[in-house]
Amino acid sequence: MRDVHETAPYQRYLEGLARGALVYQTCASCHKAIFYPRPGCPFCGALDLSLQDSKGLGTLYSVSVVYDKVQNYNLVLVDLDEGFRMMSCVPDCAAPAIGSRVKARLEQLDDQEPRIVFDLVEGDAA
Ligand SMILES: [Zn+2]
Repeated sequence: MRDVHETAPYQRYLEGLARGALVYQTCASCHKAIFYPRPGCPFCGALDLSLQDSKGLGTLYSVSVVYDKVQNYNLVLVDLDEGFRMMSCVPDCAAPAIGSRVKARLEQLDDQEPRIVFDLVEGDAA
């Protein structure tokens, strides 16, 4: 019987966060990047996936600003350099520009699950 952690991809994502890493998978068959971690490749169906640590550098693919009574915030889609896309936010910028370079950071707020957010990277052209 396989170890339960091997069969629980989201658990491996959380384990990555626990050591400050943003993890994703690559497929041994079609070589695509996969996020979130999952049991099989969504592109070709292969089960031979390996876990990787992302360098956390990416480019903003889209930005939505949410206007709120208390404080406006944004939702972004980030294209990571390794070839996968994820939803997150850029907490320290009201309305970041599409195409901005960003770097992942682990955010741990009181009473909340740790999460990956992004900071703008100055002078790092795409
Ligand atoms: Zn594949």
